Amino acid sequence: MTYFIDTHCHLASLSYQSQGFKSVKEVVDRALSVGVSHLLSVSCTTKEFYKNLELTKGFNNIYLALGIHPLNLEEEPNWSEKELKDLLLSDKRVIALGETGLDYHYSPENKKEQLESFAKQINIAKEVCKPLIIHAREAKDDTLALLRSENAKDVGGVIHCFTDSVDMARQCLDLGFYISFTGVATFKASDNVREVLKYVPNDRLMLETDCPYLAPVPVRGIENEPAYCRYTLKYIADFKGMSEDSLASITSQNFENLYKVKLKEPNVTVGECSTYKLDKFFNVSFEK
Ligand SMILES: [Zn+2]
Ligand SMILES: [Zn+2]
Repeated sequence: MTYFIDTHCHLASLSYQSQGFKSVKEVVDRALSVGVSHLLSVSCTTKEFYKNLELTKGFNNIYLALGIHPLNLEEEPNWSEKELKDLLLSDKRVIALGETGLDYHYSPENKKEQLESFAKQINIAKEVCKPLIIHAREAKDDTLALLRSENAKDVGGVIHCFTDSVDMARQCLDLGFYISFTGVATFKASDNVREVLKYVPNDRLMLETDCPYLAPVPVRGIENEPAYCRYTLKYIADFKGMSEDSLASITSQNFENLYKVKLKEPNVTVGECSTYKLDKFFNVSFEK
């Protein structure tokens, strides 16, 4: 089994205690035991970033990203462009600006502030030469307009947790962006997401958990974690009629292409998907 990456998780938001985990290391080992060898832990505020930095110290298989999320603007309304830039350049594991974007579903009342913050962040991404991780919910037209007017194409990036239309996907792909899918693709009611899955070419596809949210079937409803990205991998591989191995290597390659990194294969054995049990994981650790 080829290793692959959970391209979007929120390690700082997992409730370690209630899940019975003692540490991030256990979460990482559990992911590794089912083939999820690398993680990109995303922060939505500078405060969360500091927590992520602390939690993931010493793990060279965890990458980091930082942006000011549209739904966290109230927590950091006066976020500093200088601080964001400095933090994005503070650690070589920080490979992206995000998540940023627009969310008119949960927060339609502060569109103006969201638009300003998003535009500023696109320009910061260009200054520090890091791709964007974009959150777009019920904000198709404004997202596309800003990506165009601010020339986001110069740095590129990914539209994460994609749940919009084929038309939105087409326009994002035209702008050079990647499209990333979560466990939502496995939900019974997600025919629209599966339509997009059919449309997105393999060389622009990514997989993510967005944990602790959106656990895929068959673990839907419980707290999500990076290991469960394997369920989404299996589901999408079956849906596309390809092997898990080939989808794993395609999505890893896409990650390497977008972020200009080289994922190093860890030296451990991974259980086959047909037999693996997430409650029976091997006690392995990635080279530190
Ligand atoms: Zn998001
Ligand atoms: Zn997220």
